[in-house]
Amino acid sequence: MTIHQPALFEYINKTQPTTDGPDLSSDSTYMCQSSYESSLWAIGSCIEAADIMLQHFIDENAKPENYFVLCRPPGHHSESNTAQGFCLFNNIAVCASHLQERLKSINSTATHEIPNRVMIFDFDVHHGNGTEKIFYQSKDTLYISTHLFGDKRFYPYTGSIESTGKDEGEGFNVNIPLPCVNCGDEEFLMIIDEIVIPLAQEYSPSFLLISAGYDIMEGDSVGRMLVTPKGIHEMVSRLQHIPSIKNQVLCVLEGGYSHSILAEGVCATVQSLLHQPFMSFDSLKQKKMWLVKRADNDTGSGSDEFKEKEEEEMDEVIRINPSVKKRVKDAVSGAICKVKEIQGKYWKCFSAAHNEASSSSTPSSS
Ligand SMILES: [Zn+2]
Repeated sequence: MTIHQPALFEYINKTQPTTDGPDLSSDSTYMCQSSYESSLWAIGSCIEAADIMLQHFIDENAKPENYFVLCRPPGHHSESNTAQGFCLFNNIAVCASHLQERLKSINSTATHEIPNRVMIFDFDVHHGNGTEKIFYQSKDTLYISTHLFGDKRFYPYTGSIESTGKDEGEGFNVNIPLPCVNCGDEEFLMIIDEIVIPLAQEYSPSFLLISAGYDIMEGDSVGRMLVTPKGIHEMVSRLQHIPSIKNQVLCVLEGGYSHSILAEGVCATVQSLLHQPFMSFDSLKQKKMWLVKRADNDTGSGSDEFKEKEEEEMDEVIRINPSVKKRVKDAVSGAICKVKEIQGKYWKCFSAAHNEASSSSTPSSS
């Protein structure tokens, strides 16, 4: 495993409790009795998915397809030697690294070289600080993240526009920090159309990996964003049209803190990955059915309180008035312009925005 130090494996294995509860570190990462085993399954699944994705490069009968690694714990906060933010190992980074290692050996015997470029798009509401750090000095991995930032007041307090990579990796780290909550389908699709797709067309990756975090969805208890299941479907569908990835995308599950909403987001993603049109399942009905099942099984004293909380959640409808909506859209448009100005130093697709910003900030000589 080239991404994580052996010491991290030893530490997590050693720290795993015999009963549930203890903290792994001071940074909100809890362990239960099966955490270590689950985390190994998670990275193992990513490695297996990477091997399957490579198959069509070596076997002409294999067909490129889309994949989704539904794993827990999530991974994008984990750094090479640190577990943090609910993440033990960085699943998507392990996947990207494995793809690149395998490509090296495939390319050593292939008649034509397959570009060793992997693009990761991270739409979780939190910045993937671990993924950023792991690939910060690499040009072979383009990391693009959109996340709530709010002047570093939102976990993990990283992900500024100015963090663009270092050394060989300069220009291969693209942060799109969202300035406010309440961003919805329109704002996320605008980011995909105006930033992610143009960069992908210019970078021309062989693989697209998606850190799929459903805490951007309306009703999530952490994210406070407003993306709908239909919006998720549309986002994932648009990302599949990047020509160089040959209709092959891999999603890896990251955050999402309200189970029923997470389920809807994952369902919409799978529909898109299977090239099916979006079909909403009746979420209210689903939740009611689930509550009935719980009511049948529950005998514990805490169950009423739990059901009440779920019912509150069920009834919660987030309304946003048009003037707030306009402010959110304008703020995200502003963030997009800023990303283009800064990244235009490295990318032709944004060079006009960069040049314009440079010339307007240069004092006139006359
Ligand atoms: Zn998250």
